[in-house]
Amino acid sequence: MYRPTIGLEVHAELKTRTKMFCDSKNDPDEARPNVNICPVCMAHPGTLPVINREAVRQVLRLGAAIGGRLADFSEFDRKSYFYPDIPKGYQISQYEHPLVAGGELVGVAITRVHLEEDTARSIHANKKSLVDFNRAGIPLMELVTEPVIPDAETAGRFARELQLLLRTLGASEANLEKGEMRIEANISVSTEEGKFGTKVEVKNINSFRSVERAIAYEIERQTALIESGGEVSQETRGWDESKQETFHQRFKEGSADYRYFPEPDLPQLCISEIPELSSEALRASLPELPWERRERYAKTYALKGSDAAYLCATFERATFFDAVATALEQKKELVTSAANYIVSDLAGVYAKSGTENFSSLDSKAFAKLIRLVGAGDLSSRGAKDTLALLVEKGGDPEQIAKEHGLIQSHDTEALRGAVRSVLAEEAKAVEEYRAGKEAALQYLLGKSMKAAKGAGNPAMLKDIIIAELKAD
Ligand SMILES: [Zn+2]
Repeated sequence: MYRPTIGLEVHAELKTRTKMFCDSKNDPDEARPNVNICPVCMAHPGTLPVINREAVRQVLRLGAAIGGRLADFSEFDRKSYFYPDIPKGYQISQYEHPLVAGGELVGVAITRVHLEEDTARSIHANKKSLVDFNRAGIPLMELVTEPVIPDAETAGRFARELQLLLRTLGASEANLEKGEMRIEANISVSTEEGKFGTKVEVKNINSFRSVERAIAYEIERQTALIESGGEVSQETRGWDESKQETFHQRFKEGSADYRYFPEPDLPQLCISEIPELSSEALRASLPELPWERRERYAKTYALKGSDAAYLCATFERATFFDAVATALEQKKELVTSAANYIVSDLAGVYAKSGTENFSSLDSKAFAKLIRLVGAGDLSSRGAKDTLALLVEKGGDPEQIAKEHGLIQSHDTEALRGAVRSVLAEEAKAVEEYRAGKEAALQYLLGKSMKAAKGAGNPAMLKDIIIAELKAD
């Protein structure tokens, strides 16, 4: 009876050398306030903006990746609103002619992608308000989806995939915690088929989990409100992370309040006349996209869909896995084994330490570890221990395994000796095995592995035990 509809608006700071309309440095990591500023981004009278070509290119390139229609013609508009963090008293954005229209990501239809400038950062402390203008004028991409997302989970999946895409394209670092990617959700609950309910906008969401939680919370709140005979009002709400609930911020302005009009200080963009911005050139410049990579992994290495998704979920993981596959000369069996070790054991090591740091793990050393397992020199138990040490200290896996007595013996005679001594001591288990009890073989194998001091390859030991019992 109650059908939720969600649309997302995502802002991402683009990774360009300079700001959107001036040559001040675009450096999100600058800690000193008001360093990367100039008369243009401080809106001194008489200054004029100049369009950053790279920012335009990055938005169009993203448009090519999501299969959107790339504009032949575009222009910038003035969006009037006054806040202390907007030095000009208006923001330069795009209204009628966005750079990209349409497109799709994880099955979610996209309305538009346009380009604008970021605001300064306000800091409120000790009853004072301070403004840092380093961020003012940084190129900001805004992507708006159609109101077609049915639930919180899909919204979360969309946001994660967009972050991965932005990183894959090198367009943005898109860290939510740093505010490089900001997600706003428009949520409404309808009670009538084919009719939207009143939408509520939720802002200040700082993580993917919070995106999902804020949406779930808002669906519940609105449904309860309607059920109790109340009415949802059109408003902007914030997300309170500590209370895990949304709260009223302000009643929303309509687009009329912004009094958009074409920015007179900038030329119109005839994109079709710029060869490097042609859709062919942009498509040709695209790297392997996240969904293409997942498909390649699943196909080439016969990986489960969930494993391929895990490996592709961050750019660092995928880069590491590709480097390991190269070091293993793309030998399918070994690469598949490497994937399994990354998804299970390595993920376990990283989960324990609380951080994932693929850049400090040598892909060649990891590949060597996989070769040792493949050759039967390391048991899965030995590989696990060696891997933990490799992550912690680095170095040569073979050396590490030797130092810790983890290398398995291929010396059949030595292993046979160990098995014989076990069989002589375990008359009862031998009898049980002969009576057809399979569990007895596992028991004897365990004893033999102990006797071989962990140096025995389990498969080899098992063969020896069976052979010895037959020979008797
Ligand atoms: Zn500037």
